Parts: sequence; structure tokens; C-alpha cells
Amino acid sequence: MIIAIDGPSGAGKSTVAKAVAKKLGFSCLDTGAMYRAIAWQAVADGVPFDDDAALGQVARTHEIAFGHVEGDPVPKRVFIGGVEVTDAIRTAEIDRAVSPVSAAPSVREALVEQQRRIGRAGDYVVEGRDIGTVVFPEAPVKVFLTASDEERAHRRVRQNVDRGIGSIDYDEVLADLRRRDEIDSSRATSPLRPADDAVRLDSTGRYIEDVIDEICALADE
Ligand code: C5P
Repeated sequence: MIIAIDGPSGAGKSTVAKAVAKKLGFSCLDTGAMYRAIAWQAVADGVPFDDDAALGQVARTHEIAFGHVEGDPVPKRVFIGGVEVTDAIRTAEIDRAVSPVSAAPSVREALVEQQRRIGRAGDYVVEGRDIGTVVFPEAPVKVFLTASDEERAHRRVRQNVDRGIGSIDYDEVLADLRRRDEIDSSRATSPLRPADDAVRLDSTGRYIEDVIDEICALADE
């Protein structure tokens, strides 16, 4: 069974997806981390962001893997080509690179195939931008999670402070979120949008626990 959680950057998808997975005993797949890993590899290899063929080659030839921190059932470590990039994919540089890289159709083709292979192997909460529309359109539970721009930026700054990586400048983070939303929503391939049958949840001003419970209840129906 697949629970699809889509939405813009900073809406709380990762927190919610991980908590729902823990509560239901599901695995969790962070597809944004996969696009970030490819963006990291493209930067490391000096691949131009408008070279679809070369970006596709990067995506097809570097294996992405997830790993666990001891005692945590949700995988939080990310590897590409055997190199750990858990922290390296959360920098402001990768925030800037990831939307143009993920707009490349051949990158999407390669990653969607991997995501389907992973998700079909068990019960998964899968979070991203196109999970309910493209990757798993047959998912029985689809959520489109949003929050106001300002709240998303505040949450992202707090998260970056906690992690000790990424920008902690509110204005810079807000501008990055808006720029990524714009690119993610307007790209030709798999633009960010809610599936017709997605339940739309606005987490602005809500306790995240309430949102988590609401999604678990949808899975019970
Ligand atoms: O979820 P996160 O903010 O880490 O995602 C980073 C970027 O990866 C997004 O801004 C988007 O460009 C891309 N992405 C995507 N499709 C997905 C997941 C993420 O295009 N399913």
C-alpha cells in the first residue's frame, strides 16, 4: 500500500511522512532526497543544468541508497555512488541546483522508475511533488500538504538551525522556497500540482500531530 504525500517545499511533508510511517509501521521514501542527490552529483561532476542528456546519464549511472541511523526505523542517511551525502544535499548550493536539475525529463524518467521499484516492494509513505499524479497515481491515499509561504520559511529556518546546515537567513530561505515553487510548478514534465483525488491539507497554524493523525485516519478508511 502507498500513501502519497505531495506539496511545496517546507510544507512539513518530511516530518509528517516520517511520523505517519512510524505510526503505521510503513517504510518511508523521501523522493526529494533522490533529486537532491542527483543535483549534488551533477554539481560535483560539473554537468550543466540545461544538459538533459548528461543529467540523465548521471541519474542512470549513480546508484542512490538510503541508510539507517542506529535505533531509528526511518532511513535518514543518503548515499550516491557509494558516497554519503546526507548533509551535503541540504546546503544552500543544492537548494539552488535541485529545481533546474529535477526539471530535466531524463532525470525524472530515471528516478520515477527507481521510486516505483522501491515503493512496490512494500508498504510505503512516499513524499515528493508528483507522487499522486505521476509516480503512484493508483495510491489509495493521496495528500497535498501546503502551508503559507511565511510559515514554511520559518519552519525551514528552524530545521536548518537544528541540523546545523543550510541557510538560516529568513529572507534568503523565503526567496529560495518561492523560487523553487515557481520552477517546480511551471516545468513541462510533472509540474507540482495536486492530484484530482488528493485530500488537500493546509498545515498553517496547526499542530503537526493533528495533521499526522488526520493522515493516519485516511489510511484506516
Ligand atoms: O522535498 P525537497 O524540498 O527536498 O525536494 C527538493 C527538490 O526536488 C524540489 O524543489 C523539486 O525541485 C524536486 N523534487 C521533484 N519531484 C519530487 C521530489 C522533489 O521534482 N517528487
